[in-house]
Amino acid sequence: MSKEISSPYAQFRDFKALYVTDISSLSWCEQQFHYSLHAGGRTETTEMKAGSDIHLKLELEVHDLVKVSIETSEDLWGLKLFNLLFGLEALRTTGETRELPVFGFVSDIFVFGIIDQIKKFPNQGIRKNNDWEWRICDTKTRSKCFRPKKSTVPSSVKYQIMLYKKLFDNLVESSIEEERIFEVLDLDADKSFSKKFSKYIKIYFSNFKKLNTLRKLMAFIKNYFGFFWKSNNVLEVNYKYQGDGSDLGSLYFEYEEDMLDKHLKRSIIYWKGDREPEGVPIEEAWKCQICEYVENCEWRLKKVREIEQR
Ligand code: SF4
Repeated sequence: MSKEISSPYAQFRDFKALYVTDISSLSWCEQQFHYSLHAGGRTETTEMKAGSDIHLKLELEVHDLVKVSIETSEDLWGLKLFNLLFGLEALRTTGETRELPVFGFVSDIFVFGIIDQIKKFPNQGIRKNNDWEWRICDTKTRSKCFRPKKSTVPSSVKYQIMLYKKLFDNLVESSIEEERIFEVLDLDADKSFSKKFSKYIKIYFSNFKKLNTLRKLMAFIKNYFGFFWKSNNVLEVNYKYQGDGSDLGSLYFEYEEDMLDKHLKRSIIYWKGDREPEGVPIEEAWKCQICEYVENCEWRLKKVREIEQR
């Protein structure tokens, strides 16, 4: 099997899209991520379920959720784009949105993600033309009822939110490469959405009922981004207590483009199968104590052997 065909990208993502977390999670432990891919993903723990419930509750505070029927791949991506449009409209009119889809290319791979929250706040006098700044925020839930120290925000969380910002800012700058997207995702941009899906669009997106193909919808979204500008360089992690969903406060950190780009480069090389995954360095061996693969981890066994032979 050629390296390209056997790459994680081909094997587990079918040469289509990577999620933002497929890239950010690698910074915790690549070997662990690799094992979980082969195991079919992580099993949902009680903590993960509690986290999802809190995210859903927060989303319902800013908009309703409706079930929509889809029939084709074009419907599926149409729905994602309508969610984006709906979210942008909420952001423009109310100053806040949640679960906003974003996408773009990293190297030549299409990447898709959903931003937990974007909210506006008064600008600090840096911009002349806009009264507001956009802040990107991700919510994390904790089993402990206090906020962690700033130094303990994991790099995986930082990469996740920084990549959201990069994708959002690129969309704002009208750099949507729609033809490339349609090609990679194997979508017919001029095929009308199915009757079933169109029926929902007319009910829930009555303003947008003429947008009956991906090409028209994408062109409209490109224009709509003209109402926005790049997000603020300060990014936010907001913490909620898993016990009762109460707010534990936020931590803030600066966007670092160089740091993100280095991580993106390394991650894409892994996904394309051009290098093996790496486990944690010795200074981060504590991560192995809470890792489900610790018993049989080849990386760890190799490191233990190296230490014994010294
Ligand atoms: Fe990574 Fe350690 Fe787990 Fe191995 S045991 S996958 S090195 S965290």
